[in-house]
Amino acid sequence: MNIKARKEALRFLFAPVADRLGYKFTPVEEDADFLLEQEAQIEAETGIPYCPCQARTTDRGENMKMVCPCIPFHREHYNAMRRCWCGLFVHKDVTDPGKLRQIPESRI
Ligand code: SF4
Repeated sequence: MNIKARKEALRFLFAPVADRLGYKFTPVEEDADFLLEQEAQIEAETGIPYCPCQARTTDRGENMKMVCPCIPFHREHYNAMRRCWCGLFVHKDVTDPGKLRQIPESRI
């Protein structure tokens, strides 16, 4: 698999999905590029673009909640942070993602 081409394909595929969920790619292009490359690499190894920031388990059902974009499975949590766990996606009205912090789900 050509990782660079797949990274751009994932960007193309994810954009409308995130848009419908009220999110957009982080405006920090360096972060978006790095995270998409990690996902393309994971997809090349596993066949699925799993989240690069969440640990997978042996439970396939639980792992499917970590397929990007995983926003629907963690909506309350991510809405509270105004970003996804990795920060690949932020709420549409976020202009400075550097001010957003990861907050454990247990503290939401
Ligand atoms: S936390 Fe973000 S980057 Fe990771 S799978 Fe979910 S939406 Fe994708």
